[in-house]
Amino acid sequence: MSGTDKKIVTVSVTGATGHIGYAILFRILSGNLFGKDIKVNLQIIDINDEKIKAALSGVAMEIEDSAFPALNNLSIHTDPTSGFNKADVAFLIGARPRGPGMERKDLLLANGKIFVAQGKALNESASRDVKVLVVGNPANTNAYIAMKSAPDLKKRNFSAMMRLDHNRAVAQLSKKLRCSVEKISQICVWGNHSPTMVVDVNNALLNDSERVIDQLDPDWISENLMPNVAKRGAAIIKQRGLSSAASAASAAVDHMHDWVNGTQSWTTMGIPSYGEYGIPEDLVFGFPTTCHNGGDISVVNNLVLDKVIKEKIKLSVDELIQEKENVADLIS
Ligand code: NDP
Repeated sequence: MSGTDKKIVTVSVTGATGHIGYAILFRILSGNLFGKDIKVNLQIIDINDEKIKAALSGVAMEIEDSAFPALNNLSIHTDPTSGFNKADVAFLIGARPRGPGMERKDLLLANGKIFVAQGKALNESASRDVKVLVVGNPANTNAYIAMKSAPDLKKRNFSAMMRLDHNRAVAQLSKKLRCSVEKISQICVWGNHSPTMVVDVNNALLNDSERVIDQLDPDWISENLMPNVAKRGAAIIKQRGLSSAASAASAAVDHMHDWVNGTQSWTTMGIPSYGEYGIPEDLVFGFPTTCHNGGDISVVNNLVLDKVIKEKIKLSVDELIQEKENVADLIS
């Protein structure tokens, strides 16, 4: 699919009754994601449970009441194969939250099974050019599992959300430098969407020409920017008593907007590695990327990584390798 060559786009959303799902559906239909002339067939998906099914029909009623000009057709699904039918775009948001006392490994296995089933369903029924964004955590490894479960789709049909981390870094910098967010470019967050993520501002520019690092104290970058971005989700939960669902939905829309319509500058996407920068093949890794031609993704290449960034990236790689090993039985 390209941003312009279709008049109707089919969009599937899992976890549609959850907090992020509830926030994202109305953004998808606002007309800004695909453009004003594009209509959307929206397929909302959630689990086969009586309460959830009732909630799905309630969400559908609100969508109807919003009288979105962009909506062509709305359908409700509890089976992923029908929910992903002919999908051009799929937001995989539904996932089991970590319960009390649950280890990250247990969460990986519980959610891994969901993403095996969803990968198989995408393989069976989605468009061959489907753009899949995994938001449900642990997003990078869930995307890896879905990709491995969909052998007839291309690897780069799959991506994981690192855009909220990227947006958070841009926002912190714009506050520090007292400039608007669009003045900052060439930021990237390498690695896993986890505390090992690596915020890299070494190439960042202000006003397309001034090096951001020349204007910042290096201690502020390592002692404030990096940990603040990595711990922002927890800080929001502490304040709101709820997780950062609206900004997650907003970042998911940004990610898909740029994938479909192309990027102006770099963005960050979690995508399967082809070995770029020595990252092991197939790990779904946060890279600096550009998007073009209605769906092609390129990793920004030839960046020189300093020793500190390289060491941090290694920790994120090691974590993702461990996660991959933990779910190996699910995809064999
Ligand atoms: P949310 O809608 O708040 O979150 C959904 C997923 O997105 C979680 O994995 C969450 O991870 C993740 N996420 C990624 N980035 C963020 C962020 N910045 N802030 C918050 N979450 C983020 O969860 P709800 O509990 O409200 O809804 C869950 C949905 O999933 C429901 O619709 C439920 O029915 C569905 N579900 C589906 C299952 C299935 O398909 N078999 C199984 C279980 C649930 P984290 O947990 O780390 O916050």
